[in-house]
Amino acid sequence: MGNDDRIYCYEALSLIEDALADGYRSRAPVPEFADQAEPAPAPEAAPVPARVPLDDSLAAVAAEAARCMACRLGAGRKRSVPGQGPARPLVMVIGEGPGSEEDKTGLPFVGPAGQLLDKMLSSIGLSRDESCFIGNIVKCRPPLNRDPAPDEQAACRPFLDRQLALLRPRAILAVGRIPAQSLLGVKDGIGRLRGRVYDFGGLPLVATYHPSALLRDEGLKRPAWEDLKLLRSLLDGLGA
Ligand code: SF4
Repeated sequence: MGNDDRIYCYEALSLIEDALADGYRSRAPVPEFADQAEPAPAPEAAPVPARVPLDDSLAAVAAEAARCMACRLGAGRKRSVPGQGPARPLVMVIGEGPGSEEDKTGLPFVGPAGQLLDKMLSSIGLSRDESCFIGNIVKCRPPLNRDPAPDEQAACRPFLDRQLALLRPRAILAVGRIPAQSLLGVKDGIGRLRGRVYDFGGLPLVATYHPSALLRDEGLKRPAWEDLKLLRSLLDGLGA
């Protein structure tokens, strides 16, 4: 790794460390960076996102989600949260489901976790304004922020598949255990699922910790940073 690469990595790391420290950090000596291990081989491909009619649109998905009652979550929502971002993103970031603030605003990843997610994306040159569409496995808030049940995830999956087909991102970043398990169809914890590139029906998928987990446990910031670097490196490899 050359000096320029080291400086780039260090500055990016500082950004995410700033985020995790929730404040400004003064410059520190450039740390030693070990060579990155090769990503583990990808497991078997996941189902390919469904093709959608030519007249489908993100607006149609949002409108249908707003009146959807296909699962019990529809009865408790204030607003559905279909997602946010550019129509041709590099990356679709997929979380678990809306929380209280998201339910009020109709926007994904607002509040401290959302601010940290924005800083994490910024540290690798991405943003929800220009390069990332932010969505969730379920579009309506689970009560008391519980995990969305498997039948709720399944009921909402057609919306996500339509979004993926419409957005055609170059990669997926699954943030948290639920989206990683749901998309990959496995039951492993996020600690086992992170750190490698999966083939999600032809799309590369990287899983990492949810920013809320990073806010609770600073020890997770290093592996999360490794995951972000992995995503950046695969985007670079795609010329994105
Ligand atoms: S979570 Fe999804 S499937 Fe359930 S009511 Fe909301 S939009 Fe419909």
